[in-house]
Amino acid sequence: MKEYGVYISGKWAESTSSQIFETKNPTTGETLATFPKGTKEDVAKAIDAAEKALPEWKRFPAPKRGEILLRAAQLMRERKDELGSIVTKEMGKAIAEGKGEIQEAIDFVEYVAGEGRRLLGITTPSELPDKFFMTVLQPIGVVGLITPWNFPMAVPCWKLAPALIAGNTVIFKPASGTPLCAARLVEIFEEAGLPPGVLNFITGSGSVVGREIVENPKVKAISFTGGVPTGVDIYSRASKLLKSVYLELGGNNPHIIMDDANMELAIEGVLFGAFGTAGQRCTATRRLIIHKDVYGEVMEKLLKRTRALKIGNPLDPEIDVGPVTSADQEKIILDYIKIGKDEGARLLCGGRKLKGGIYDKGFFIEPTIFEAEHGMRITKEEIFGPVLSVMKAKNYEDAVRIANDVEYGLSSSIYTKNVNLAFKAIQDLEAGITYINAPTIGAEVHLPFGGIKNTGNGGREAGTAAIEEFTEIKTVCIDYSDRLQKAQIEE
Ligand code: NDP
Repeated sequence: MKEYGVYISGKWAESTSSQIFETKNPTTGETLATFPKGTKEDVAKAIDAAEKALPEWKRFPAPKRGEILLRAAQLMRERKDELGSIVTKEMGKAIAEGKGEIQEAIDFVEYVAGEGRRLLGITTPSELPDKFFMTVLQPIGVVGLITPWNFPMAVPCWKLAPALIAGNTVIFKPASGTPLCAARLVEIFEEAGLPPGVLNFITGSGSVVGREIVENPKVKAISFTGGVPTGVDIYSRASKLLKSVYLELGGNNPHIIMDDANMELAIEGVLFGAFGTAGQRCTATRRLIIHKDVYGEVMEKLLKRTRALKIGNPLDPEIDVGPVTSADQEKIILDYIKIGKDEGARLLCGGRKLKGGIYDKGFFIEPTIFEAEHGMRITKEEIFGPVLSVMKAKNYEDAVRIANDVEYGLSSSIYTKNVNLAFKAIQDLEAGITYINAPTIGAEVHLPFGGIKNTGNGGREAGTAAIEEFTEIKTVCIDYSDRLQKAQIEE
């Protein structure tokens, strides 16, 4: 079992702390590796290393930075099976999804590497003669990346690749539940040829390591994915230093089935959306809203399919649903199931922690479906697990009203063959992402990702937005008239 240190200035080193923590397999309880509980001093050293590396990395041509990213993507491609199984062992998602996550990381890093040959600005005419305008993109400086456990390799890549291509240097703090995935990623970028100090990696608690990254004035921007309370805390602390902050804080994503939908397809979509990754995706389907005329038919089929899902060791390719990621998450989810029962929602299937055999060593919760009334807590709050609330809608307007009446706005989906309704839904659903005849999960990397309302603070990640998150725009004016020209004053 490997004992990791902190990674500062291109070297793995001992932390200033003597305390360590273990990362464990949520299926078996096996310890996978140990990591230091990093300190403020570790973070300060890492930030100094990142500051020192910044001037040279900024000057390193962006296409050459892209070549390093491409090498990292190539290494991930060669090790896809191994890395996928590490994701599955450490986080608990089914192995096909573990490998899918690595593919997502590869796709994104390759996509961003190409940006090294673009990083486009604009040119535009001046209102005065012999004057030239353009914009250029510049790095922000030292940036802090704080990531969650549910996509332990893909989400770090979503942040790391654009931060690096734009010429920033990085302090990376992973979730304490999945530091091994993060460390393997750091090793890959090191092997790909990142110069020392460009990427620095400190493990440890959010309240010590995370907070120091947020509060240290030398870190100029923070990119965070995780829960709302943490996001609010980070935003309020970082705002005092006028830092740029990107937040992605989850969703309460609706899946609407209209009376004309392809039922089989719609049900397939719900199963994947609600129970894929044991419901631990920020885009997971949390609420199913069904047109009253097809409610009975959909529910009968959905319950049958849900009860047939195979729950077990996620390394087994036959398994549909693995464990939830930790004892803490298991407790939160089971508490919500109790809340649902107490507030009078009808438990239609699942609802229990699985026991006996392999289940005794891990955190297994049955895929759970409640028939609920809109307004109950289980329909309004984000339950980050395999729990689906189903509601009946009178018509399209009613379905959209229910879909929109929550505090989040990340993903949304509607199944209908009516093209008019599909386009109305694109207009009406309050979410950063709307799928027509596809589930709420399944983002592709070249499209902007993010949401409205409490899902974040207005930014987008990935796709064309990825570079914006990590760059400053400089407006440049070149006057070649050889005289003082006065904008707005000269006639
Ligand atoms: P958190 O928001 O607590 O953690 C996310 C990351 O932030 C981790 O790296 C964590 O470190 C770090 N962190 C925690 N506190 C601070 C702080 N004060 N300052 C800076 N960084 C901090 O999520 P949890 O893992 O505790 O999950 C709780 C809930 O969050 C879930 O039930 C779910 O609702 C939501 N969530 C949403 C995700 C999404 O994709 N949007 C992903 C994961 C969770 P550490 O791990 O050391 O605590």
